[in-house]
Amino acid sequence: MNYDRILIRYGEMSLKGRNRKHFVQKLKKNIKFILREFKNIRIESEWDRMYVQLNGEPVEPVIHGLKKVFGIQSFSPAIKTEKNIDAIREAALHIVNQAHQPGNTFKISARRSDKSFEYDTNGLNHAVGAHILINVDDIKVDVKNPDINLIVEVRHDAVYVSGEVFQGAGGFPVASSGKAMLMLSGGIDSPVAGFLTMKRGVGIEAVHFHSPPFTSERAKQKVIDLAHKLAEYSGSVKIHIVPFTKIQETIHKEIPEGYTMTSTRRMMLRITEELRQKHEGLAIVTGESLGQVASQTMDSMYAINNVTNTPILRPLITMDKIDIIKIAEEIDTLEISNRPYEDCCTIFTPPSPKTRPRLEKVMAFEEKLDWQPLLSEAIENTETIIVSERRNQQETDVEDLF
Ligand code: ATP
Ligand code: MG
Repeated sequence: MNYDRILIRYGEMSLKGRNRKHFVQKLKKNIKFILREFKNIRIESEWDRMYVQLNGEPVEPVIHGLKKVFGIQSFSPAIKTEKNIDAIREAALHIVNQAHQPGNTFKISARRSDKSFEYDTNGLNHAVGAHILINVDDIKVDVKNPDINLIVEVRHDAVYVSGEVFQGAGGFPVASSGKAMLMLSGGIDSPVAGFLTMKRGVGIEAVHFHSPPFTSERAKQKVIDLAHKLAEYSGSVKIHIVPFTKIQETIHKEIPEGYTMTSTRRMMLRITEELRQKHEGLAIVTGESLGQVASQTMDSMYAINNVTNTPILRPLITMDKIDIIKIAEEIDTLEISNRPYEDCCTIFTPPSPKTRPRLEKVMAFEEKLDWQPLLSEAIENTETIIVSERRNQQETDVEDLF
């Protein structure tokens, strides 16, 4: 007897009242996609949980995949048995035998949604617990802090026995709440901002500005590698790579030095806004954090934000760098972000950008030139690539989640 399924609990998603059906369907689709290499898997969803039936597929890699699916609160590999006490005892013993090491402690946590079952929860705890004590050497009961917590759930259709609870990624299923454009640099912050936004159920398409030959292929590769990491949570991520050299050179030539940085950000945002419209996103996401650098003061954000009415999501806005770094470590993007390649902004950053730029001033400077043809040209020459969570995946094999 082996684990034949994985029981998935939804958590926060359950609070969503009327939207629930939509969320459950999205979660099911996302799980299917993440586990698509396991051809025999079947997914069954119920009101408050889902079952991934393994049908002979290996349990470990499936667990690994499920840990990154947003919308899952927790999950447990489980054995489904008939509703009779002998079958339950047999499944419980099997699980304990697999997990047990000498000296371990255990407890039985029985739950019953089918109240007509012949044993109540107390009765189940005793009946199953006694069977374990008789058949396993060197094991004791500890109800407070057991090494093995056997969960026996009696439901209307069957009984589910599981021995381990894995923490899920939490949040909402990716792409259950629309799509946003993530301004993805090669830095530490923007991938973390992308991760946190995806966790709230938002689908992400990345926009990256690069300025060859001032920025190298390796700098571009860094962004692709970061997108790979984010794709582990959604299956795939599209990146729009915008050629930004001409615009930066023009800014450098036309805009007074103290304002080049402000103007650069405004042009980036204008292009991102046009891409958002083109690809039907509902918001723009950045990795900005208040006060971190000159472009992220209140005055700067006011002057930069003025080019669009679209909601800009800034998940890191009040966070300290140290906490952002912690998340970057957890999602394994820190090492990639720390690679030393130049970013298009740092190269053109003046020695002392204005930390308190004035909106009227930057608008007056920009008015001297019609920027639209330059912006349109950059958008026309934007290269779009799709990266999947698997490194060697052919681009054409990747299904789009959105
Ligand atoms: P990050 O670590 O995300 O690069 P940062 O602290 O270095 O952020 P800035 O360089 O001021 O801050 O960038 C602020 C935000 O602007 C970034 O988080 C990102 O969302 C966006 N951004 C900056 N450079 C680029 C770029 N080359 N392409 C796309 N977006 C960018
Ligand atoms: Mg940066």
